[in-house]
Amino acid sequence: MTSIGILGCAGRMGRSLIAAGIDAGATIAGGTERPGAVAIGIDLGTLAGRDPLGVAVTDDAAALFALADVVIDFTAPVAAPSHATLAAKAGKALVIGTTGLSVDQQAAIDLAASHVPVVQAANFSLGVNLLAALTRKVASILGPSQWDIEVIEMHHRHKVDAPSGTALALGRAAADGRGVDLDTVSDRVRDGHTGARVPGHIGFATLRGGDVVGEHTVLFAADGERLELTHKATDRGIFSRGAVHAALWAAGKAPGRYDMAHVLEIA
Ligand code: NAD
Repeated sequence: MTSIGILGCAGRMGRSLIAAGIDAGATIAGGTERPGAVAIGIDLGTLAGRDPLGVAVTDDAAALFALADVVIDFTAPVAAPSHATLAAKAGKALVIGTTGLSVDQQAAIDLAASHVPVVQAANFSLGVNLLAALTRKVASILGPSQWDIEVIEMHHRHKVDAPSGTALALGRAAADGRGVDLDTVSDRVRDGHTGARVPGHIGFATLRGGDVVGEHTVLFAADGERLELTHKATDRGIFSRGAVHAALWAAGKAPGRYDMAHVLEIA
């Protein structure tokens, strides 16, 4: 039986990951939280609203990497690089769901992936990964001279990064479909006298509020018609089940960077 460690196990996703790991029949090796977090010492089963597992939350990530076959990180961008370094040192597979990483933080993940298997996805749901594949295909057909692309997302009021990692991944899929680099065509913020829309640019719009788990629309707009591809998440379980599936898949794989298209075999 594969044993899974969960970093950030008392967070919204962490608790859902514990439940998903139990439901998938995995062994929950343990979980960590920030030093000083109130959850330290609490049983992981209790945190997830399940029967006690006899494993308490700690702040010792190195010990968790020593114990587990594979470790899942849904924490914060500032924590992800040191977790990746620990994965490489311990020779353990890593699944990363944390979003909003800077270029330097991402470089630490990429470095770890030359030593161990790393599955990284801005979104672990089957539906969003299919949406990305559809977006790439549609963008390759609907050219920039007539079709404008906008990515619209909405999340709960606690989300700290914008646009969401998923919105950026969908923008990247659209840019890939058109054979361009997203960084050279993205309009991430519009305010004031912006001037007319630049043909070929990919725009982003961010909404925040309430308890929305995550909604994404890729909108293709031309004169006289619009095509909208939408995914609505109503339960975080879709992400945690996908991440646990990725963790079971990653344990024992060759070192390298993988994404959900590899795990779901829709690449
Ligand atoms: P959250 O704030 O509820 O949970 C994060 C948890 O990590 C907190 O409990 C925090 O105390 C803990 N943490 C922070 N630093 C830590 C450290 N150094 N060691 C151990 N624990 C630490 O946030 P959330 O809603 O669970 O989201 C977490 C991350 O996952 C965010 O970046 C979010 O965007 C991302 N996310 C990704 C997906 C996906 O499918 N990839 C889905 C949902 C959320």
